[in-house]
Amino acid sequence: MEETFYTGAIILKRSPWRENDSKVIVYSLEKGKLELVARGTKKILSKLASHLEPITLSDLMVIKGRQVNYVGTAISEESFQSIKGSLEKIFLVGETINLFNSLVKEQEPDPQLFYLLRDFLFLVNDNEEAELFDVAFKIKLIEILGYSPNFNSCIICGQNNAKQSFIFDFVKGGIVCEQCKAHISKNIQTLNLALVDNYKKISSLEIKNIASPHLPETDREKLKKFLSNYILANIK
Ligand SMILES: [Zn+2]
Repeated sequence: MEETFYTGAIILKRSPWRENDSKVIVYSLEKGKLELVARGTKKILSKLASHLEPITLSDLMVIKGRQVNYVGTAISEESFQSIKGSLEKIFLVGETINLFNSLVKEQEPDPQLFYLLRDFLFLVNDNEEAELFDVAFKIKLIEILGYSPNFNSCIICGQNNAKQSFIFDFVKGGIVCEQCKAHISKNIQTLNLALVDNYKKISSLEIKNIASPHLPETDREKLKKFLSNYILANIK
């Protein structure tokens, strides 16, 4: 194993650690999610600080230690100033980054995840309207992690009988058909065909190719509500 390595990484979280150090959680292109220690006096740390701020894309040199890995050097490539300058954006992105951090396991690199997160940050940074990108990011994230909801067949009988609306059972994690209605839990949402179509449409596109005006706000809000219920009930 090499003693040091270089990697592009997105800073997810930073917290104080021991007296003078910081603990930094990053998602790196080469090694996936890593927990690193940034060592040193307050003076050295303050030089590194802006390059290790959450929601920053940085080039890192990582030094392997016996128990923990350390940040050797950090140079920010993009600091996403437009996100950091907007309370609305920083709140939205902060929550989504926390979700990403809680769902993604350490040291399981996946370039798809790295580029999804990077594209998402650039899109939110460069566009006024951030909500749709957030919805798209979450759809893509659960897809890559293998948690996608199945809209095609009934979770109880397995039949494929798509109608105008679907009962989505959050406890069972899928749609329930008319015939199996007696077996549903209390945590359900009736989805209309448009919501399912929107979900599938977003899922089929790359996040970069999703244009905000294509989805009316009410549809977007419905999707957002569905996604947060789904993530809460089935993933976290
Ligand atoms: Zn059924």
